[in-house]
Amino acid sequence: SSKQVINFGAGPAKVPRQVLEQVKEELLDCGCGISVMELSHRSSEYAAINNRAIALYRELIGIPENYKILLMQGGGTGAFASVALNLMHRGEKADYILTGVWSTKAANEASKYLKVNHVFPKPEKFNAIPDQSTWNLDPEAAYVYYCDNETVNGVEFSFIPETKGVPLVCDMSSNIMTRKFDVSKFGVVIACAQKNLGPSGITAIIIREDLLGKPSPLCPQVFDYTLFTKENSLLNTPPTFIVYIFSLVLEWVKNQGGLVAMEANSKAKSELLYSVISDSQGFYSCPVAKDCRSRITVPFCLNAGPEADKQFLKEAQELGFLQLKGHRLVGGIRAAMYNALTLDEVKILVDFMKTFQERNP
Ligand code: PMP
Repeated sequence: SSKQVINFGAGPAKVPRQVLEQVKEELLDCGCGISVMELSHRSSEYAAINNRAIALYRELIGIPENYKILLMQGGGTGAFASVALNLMHRGEKADYILTGVWSTKAANEASKYLKVNHVFPKPEKFNAIPDQSTWNLDPEAAYVYYCDNETVNGVEFSFIPETKGVPLVCDMSSNIMTRKFDVSKFGVVIACAQKNLGPSGITAIIIREDLLGKPSPLCPQVFDYTLFTKENSLLNTPPTFIVYIFSLVLEWVKNQGGLVAMEANSKAKSELLYSVISDSQGFYSCPVAKDCRSRITVPFCLNAGPEADKQFLKEAQELGFLQLKGHRLVGGIRAAMYNALTLDEVKILVDFMKTFQERNP
């Protein structure tokens, strides 16, 4: 149908139109007479897809040679466990920086394998990042873990934590590919794919070489970073069709101008949305402190209350704004603005927000 549809879903999220067109085009025949999904993962054709995906990830992010890139399964949640299982050789305890739902889940999962220390007491509401000078970092921790963009709470780091040599582990699931960052500051960077990297089904892991080689004896093979490095992410059957789409999304990012273009785009989109919220004279509000507001996943609500939120969401849905409802844990409204979402689409949303306000004084 020709009805306007704008997808603000937080994940699985919008995939660039051009990518979907290409997938459709190549669905029945990827150039060798059969579909990509029918191709052996041991074929030379698939090896090319796998290598291309990994090489593009390295190129776009600027990953140094002493880091390995792994494409694994198990989602972001799988990596909550695999990070601990692969790094616990460094010690029996790890530091966790809790800034929202996802870092909290990661800490709970890791606590099955090692002693988890909270760098600051778990806040009642996740809407700010306590000043770094107040953090209680343990110099003997196996690693320090944080989530760069809390998808549910809308809290994003504007700095890289200083850990004085302790390996830094970061979950960038919802903001990878949206800005340049200095990989050399990190031990491990994890990201599930279903936000900025394509459909769900793979988790991309970046790991510094010197941290490899000593997985816990209890680590399942499918979570073993050392084995995956040796096997070039082909230890067992990967989600081949998803890796293929992942590679097309990376190609698309490159054609758009890479991370510099993605960063400019997310800056423009988020500044526009936040300006409309702050110019609304209290009609709309965002619960997050200004210095850590996410450029990517923006939670907001109507100050008139949950009934007003409902009416807003109902009308938005009718106009084709999809998946704007806030996460079930926090309610309200959430606009996820990943790379595939255009500035024009955000303009249409803010126009609706303004007219909705005018109609409901
Ligand atoms: N980390 C972050 C920041 C997320 O947003 C999510 C999912 N929304 C996850 C981890 C968990 O990912 P998965 O559902 O693939 O396990």
